[in-house]
Amino acid sequence: MVVEDAVNSSAEAAESQVFVQVAVPTPVARCFDYRWPSDETPPVPGARVVVSFARRRLVGVVVASASHSSVPSERLKRVTEVIDREAVLSADLLSLLSWAASYYHHPIGEVMAAALPRALRLGAPAEITQRETFSLNEPLEEILPTLGRAPVQRQLVQRLASASGCDSTVLSTISARWRTSLAPLIERGVVAVEHSMSLPSNGATDHGPALEGEQALARDAVIESFGQQKTLVLNGVTGSGKTEVYLQAIEAVRKGGKQALVLVPEISLTPQLMGRFAARLDGCLVSLHSGLNDTERGQAWLLAAQGHADVVVGTRSAVLVPLPRLGLVIVDEEHDGSFKQQDGFRYHARDLALMRSRDCQCPVVLGSATPSFETLRNVTLGRFTELRLSVRATGAPPPSLALLDIRRRPLVEGMSDRLLDTIAQHLEAGGQAMVFINRRGFAPTLLCNDCGAAADCARCDAHMTVHAASGCLRCHHCGADRAMPTACESCGSIHLDRVGYGTERIARALAEAFPDIEIARIDRDSTRRRGALEEQLDRAVSGRARLLVGTQMLAKGHHFPALTLVGILDADRGLFGIDFRSLENMGQLILQVAGRAGRESTPGTVLIQTRNPDNPMLQTLVSDGYDTFATHALDERRVANWPPYSFVALIRAEAVNDRQPLDFLDTVAAFLVADMQTREADGQIDLLGPAPAPMERLAGKFRARLLLQSESRAHLHEALARLASVIDALEGARLVRWSIDVDPVDLF
Ligand code: ADP
Ligand code: ZN
Ligand code: ZN
Repeated sequence: MVVEDAVNSSAEAAESQVFVQVAVPTPVARCFDYRWPSDETPPVPGARVVVSFARRRLVGVVVASASHSSVPSERLKRVTEVIDREAVLSADLLSLLSWAASYYHHPIGEVMAAALPRALRLGAPAEITQRETFSLNEPLEEILPTLGRAPVQRQLVQRLASASGCDSTVLSTISARWRTSLAPLIERGVVAVEHSMSLPSNGATDHGPALEGEQALARDAVIESFGQQKTLVLNGVTGSGKTEVYLQAIEAVRKGGKQALVLVPEISLTPQLMGRFAARLDGCLVSLHSGLNDTERGQAWLLAAQGHADVVVGTRSAVLVPLPRLGLVIVDEEHDGSFKQQDGFRYHARDLALMRSRDCQCPVVLGSATPSFETLRNVTLGRFTELRLSVRATGAPPPSLALLDIRRRPLVEGMSDRLLDTIAQHLEAGGQAMVFINRRGFAPTLLCNDCGAAADCARCDAHMTVHAASGCLRCHHCGADRAMPTACESCGSIHLDRVGYGTERIARALAEAFPDIEIARIDRDSTRRRGALEEQLDRAVSGRARLLVGTQMLAKGHHFPALTLVGILDADRGLFGIDFRSLENMGQLILQVAGRAGRESTPGTVLIQTRNPDNPMLQTLVSDGYDTFATHALDERRVANWPPYSFVALIRAEAVNDRQPLDFLDTVAAFLVADMQTREADGQIDLLGPAPAPMERLAGKFRARLLLQSESRAHLHEALARLASVIDALEGARLVRWSIDVDPVDLF
């Protein structure tokens, strides 16, 4: 009797059971069910809960609640704790993330976790805390002379003068050490601090120029698209005033009570850009970038997600922030590769921005002077609307580009006499010159003059780069370093040559050639220390440093008013790249670097050193510009059936053992071939590989790739979905680390 009773009551309980489906951050590609007391209201979708999973306590996100579970109730655990009463991830974001999880074939729990800032991922309360705002007590002119040579302090007070009531999110874009720099000013009473519960609100001091012609048309076209799902490509030459168009469109969307999201590439979220936004926009401006600590980031995220922020400016991951009043999305420098996440959840922020605009019925503006080939193709197909800005906003003429044939020319440290002469002329005329070389360090190779051996990385198939200033060899792929050898590691000879050029070497050569001129070197090494990038940029922008040397960190978005000459040293590398995007990237990089020249009154000159002056693509780029270049390069893509004429996904595998990655990808390929045979009507997917990666060994791991290519996106994704559902169970899967990369930006 007793036993029967127990069975009955448990059956009854099962009838009225409630289950909560939770996205748990684990590599398993599905949600998990947890039990919930039937007499209590279950947590809302989008709320965080703590659950126990494989004997760990994890923070997951509720996706739904249901009255059924495919798993018997007694085998399910209860939800341990509910963190949020209200959803932290809104309904539209939950559906975007579910879509992204299936499109990128990445586990839903990890996708949801990627959308949350770290503080919330760890379970911090979703509450906005008190806010500090800072303002100047004295006029800027009186403060500046008292500061001496303290660039960060200078920038801080200038920012405080340009907008009233700046808060930590604004000031932290100036320097990660802004608090330390500001403290003495607060102590002296020059800067006032206010604590409040109120929202960061920006008071614009500057209303910008009135727009005319193409700029006005572009702005109006954006404004007319409010409330509609529409993609507008703002294709404007460098310096054509795209940012002005964004600012005025943002102002309009804000006045209409909506939020604007501005996505910018990693490198360009500089104080310069944030300063410009802060000086021009009213309302609550929030930035999300890597310089914020977890608390600051969490707070900025909440301001956006709870609808307080009017404008959110951020790098890639900002596309995943809930925005309840979203009315406009802008992707600046949309061609930039940093919009693609390169590990874990490998999403493309530009593509997710397009999905968000569909969900929110709002326009997206894709801005660039060198639009990606995918975007150009979508313009041709009529899916995107193109808006053109064909002249520079300041009235400056476009820079003049010329190829400099360096074959059989004497070179001084990699620079031709003509380049050096031209630099001298520009400096004499009071201009500023930049030498661009996309390689940091002193020299890319240390070569033995006797036996020819190069100093290689022990863990990668790569040469070590010579770093002269720090006296070491460093691998640019895995980061390993060792002391500079005094003798050849193979034969013991002391005749070692440093072969090739990097920024360090070029900067040294320029310092010798122009001893009286201040030089700013901008690359990952010279800007590693916190605040160093800001200092170097300040020297470059103010014109104090009249010679600039740098890598692609110098290419993006910066406005150096005095710059009149740009020399590009290693343009040829892009001509022989192994990747289908090499040529596109080369053209974009050259034109972006070139676009830094002559943005104000003096016309800009760009000299491109090359050993391939007859190369038709290089010639087209220089004489006919990006459009013609892109048309020709797109023809090559069409012939080779590469994106955007096909769709690709890359399966990567790596392991310490050299055979396992290839063996595993053979198994994957065999699965895909068999899968295709059973579904003949579905159309074909071409498999390229498996093959070792271009650089097979990286950080001690052997790497292999299998490329899937199809003319049908749907077929590709169906095959990937079937693969993803079994891949963990395929032979050898446990022996390697594998990943699926949909729409890869490189095949590396
Ligand atoms: P882009 O974003 O296309 O590179 P910017 O918006 O940075 O161009 O504009 C380049 C320069 O031209 C900036 O100094 C900007 O202040 C100026 N500018 C932009 N629009 C105008 C305009 N309508 N009238 C005068 N100057 C302008
Ligand atoms: Zn040797
Ligand atoms: Zn290495």
